[in-house]
Amino acid sequence: MKTRAGLWLIHPKPQDGELLSSWLIRIAAMTGRSLHGFCDDHWRGLNLWNRDLDHLAPEVVLETLAKRTGTPTNQVQATTLNAFEGTLVPRVVPNGSTAMVRPIGVWHRERKTHGLQYCSHCLTEDQIPYFKTLWRLLPVSTCTRHGVILKSSCPRCDAPVAPHRGDFLICHHCGSDLRGQKHEPANSNVLQFQHHLQGVLAGNPVCWPGFHGTYPIAFFALINRLVLLLSTGARRDRLLKILQARCDIEGITEFTSKTKDTKTLSPRSVHDVMIGITYLLRGWPWIFIATFLDAKVYWSWAMKDLKPQNAPYVFFQPTKAFLQIDPNAKDR
Ligand SMILES: [Zn+2]
Ligand SMILES: [Zn+2]
Repeated sequence: MKTRAGLWLIHPKPQDGELLSSWLIRIAAMTGRSLHGFCDDHWRGLNLWNRDLDHLAPEVVLETLAKRTGTPTNQVQATTLNAFEGTLVPRVVPNGSTAMVRPIGVWHRERKTHGLQYCSHCLTEDQIPYFKTLWRLLPVSTCTRHGVILKSSCPRCDAPVAPHRGDFLICHHCGSDLRGQKHEPANSNVLQFQHHLQGVLAGNPVCWPGFHGTYPIAFFALINRLVLLLSTGARRDRLLKILQARCDIEGITEFTSKTKDTKTLSPRSVHDVMIGITYLLRGWPWIFIATFLDAKVYWSWAMKDLKPQNAPYVFFQPTKAFLQIDPNAKDR
């Protein structure tokens, strides 16, 4: 068995914001072993690639990586989606579905859904290209460095991104290079908002106008709720029609109101929904209330499938105060 212990010591630490899977693939590539051979050498029987490794990383893998590469434990932990516990969500659900974490649709070693996003410009320009933890998150739909909307599939064949299957940046399905691809420019309000969100995820306080001091988890829960209301359900078309007239939303018809899981929306759809959200958040809660009243989306629709005790107060309070027009009235 080739442990290549000596080589590990010169192997790279994770880059800033790098995903565990990305880091591990890079390390294995430098040993000259195949990825699966390398993982089998060190963690035999664990089937690391038959799971969402970044979501459900065995402790022994993290420990080995920390020890063999001389990387501090907290830096190793930060390569997993656990990094967002306490800011994005209260708890990451390793075996299930974590709110606002895009699912990659694990099927053996295949990936069935477009859960891993990327910026082709970043992959092209970075001296050592890598995939970022942020690219797994629903509220992240743009690259704030390049001002573009992210992609979440191969530009040629639309296959989900699966760097562990191909040659890292080469599509395993059709052989296209993820580098050197064109992106759509992102809306400046969305870029500004996402820049702020990334700061909050990194530990800064929420200081978006009107939300100073809001607990990060509550702020993200509010955003998640608004994404849901603007992208699914029987009333979302009413809301979108009004928002289309008031802000610069395009391409909003890409997904249907029957979409069950907002976490599978394309980056382009999330980006367009975020344009609407940055508008609704202005002067909170008055523009939100006025828009929802205009669209006749009242309390029961705004709170649909959401128990009051689970609703973020910043959403619940104005919704209860101003959208509870007539709790006994039937659908209007
Ligand atoms: Zn970029
Ligand atoms: Zn392809």
